[in-house]
Amino acid sequence: MSEDIKRLTRFVDDDNQRHIDTAMGNGVYDGLKKALEEHQPKDIVDILKASGLRGRGGAGFPTGLKWSFVPVKAEKPKYLCCNADEGEPGTFKDRLIMERDPHMLIEGIVIACYAIGIRDAYIYIRGEFVKPADILDEAIDEAYEKGFLGENILGKNFECHITVHRGAGAYVCGEETGLIESLEGKRGQPRLKPPFPAIVGAFQGPTVVNNVETLSNVPWIIVNGAEKYAEVGSERNPGTRIFGVSGMVEKPGLYELPMGTTLQELLDIAGGVKDGKKLKAIIPGGSSAPAMSPKELDTKMDFDSLMKAGSMAGSGGMIVLDETVCLVRVTRRLLEFYAHESCGQCTPCREGVPWMLRIVRNIELGKGKMSDIKQILKICDNIKMRTLCPLGDAAAMPTEGFVKKFKSEFTKHIQTGECTVGGPLGCDRRPRKIDHH
Ligand code: SF4
Repeated sequence: MSEDIKRLTRFVDDDNQRHIDTAMGNGVYDGLKKALEEHQPKDIVDILKASGLRGRGGAGFPTGLKWSFVPVKAEKPKYLCCNADEGEPGTFKDRLIMERDPHMLIEGIVIACYAIGIRDAYIYIRGEFVKPADILDEAIDEAYEKGFLGENILGKNFECHITVHRGAGAYVCGEETGLIESLEGKRGQPRLKPPFPAIVGAFQGPTVVNNVETLSNVPWIIVNGAEKYAEVGSERNPGTRIFGVSGMVEKPGLYELPMGTTLQELLDIAGGVKDGKKLKAIIPGGSSAPAMSPKELDTKMDFDSLMKAGSMAGSGGMIVLDETVCLVRVTRRLLEFYAHESCGQCTPCREGVPWMLRIVRNIELGKGKMSDIKQILKICDNIKMRTLCPLGDAAAMPTEGFVKKFKSEFTKHIQTGECTVGGPLGCDRRPRKIDHH
């Protein structure tokens, strides 16, 4: 892609970008100056609404609209939580921003706080992200020294503080109410909604939870305008996105591209399938997204197109699976992850996910029955949309997708008791009789 389409990754190759002098030299904090000097808080919310920016954490909810749900006047203090609990398998984009351009994120948070009338913001970061958390702490100190944080920011009657809060490493704390509970020092269990965080969130105050990449888009939008922002991307899905590519590709990594780039285009940019192997499946938006088949590569990678195709854009992490991969085993590995991460509050997730895991494990071991396929799909139906938080769906949707779209792999395992694929993610030998004991 041409360099001028890049908005979030323009300076990530510069080792000094994490230091405030270099960042300021590259225009970071110009958006904050413009916001404070030229706009009233309400204008900023309107600009964000007009830009069409949608949340990059997974749900794709319009950011300006989310901000507008927070009451202007509230009895309790309002809070902003930046969700840096990047834990979706196959996703590693927020870490890049935090490590390589932390001031862009800080600037986005401060502008958001100004727009919504918030004094205190938290960056809730997963505990394993030790390096990004240290870098953020240093960058926040620098921002205080320069007067971009603290009292009377840029001489205005506006005060803002940011605290980095390190989580203890639970996938479910990436869900906004689980994050809030954890931030409050409690067990990270999602809350029943409503009330939504915009009304009753952290410490009972109105709260906005936005993802790292989402907030990092804000300064660019303020500097360049909503119209310019929407020049790139697809219909109702404006802007760029940092796509993560992993799995069996020649050039795994992060690529900032317009929303609406097709799966095929991204695969080509990442050098194609590794070693010229045949493509079997692509997971388009982190491990919760149902896999796409090679026939669906012309699908655009935006929220609406992928949803229409029966999958989702999710966190933008594309995982490429080639012909050497056993999809029964992939499904089992995913279910192991989700069963382990279930917080246990609701029955469909707590009981249903380990149940599916037991069935798929049996199929993998050659102990499956044909009725298992129907049983898995029935359990998926009983999990989807019946749980407190999206983790239940996150386990059921990809499982259902694999079983429906790649049914022959499952039936072959059941009928022959053999796995006919091998390779790094497949079963060990090819073909092999599966040991029942
Ligand atoms: Fe907990 Fe799972 Fe229910 Fe989410 S869906 S609240 S993780 S039990």
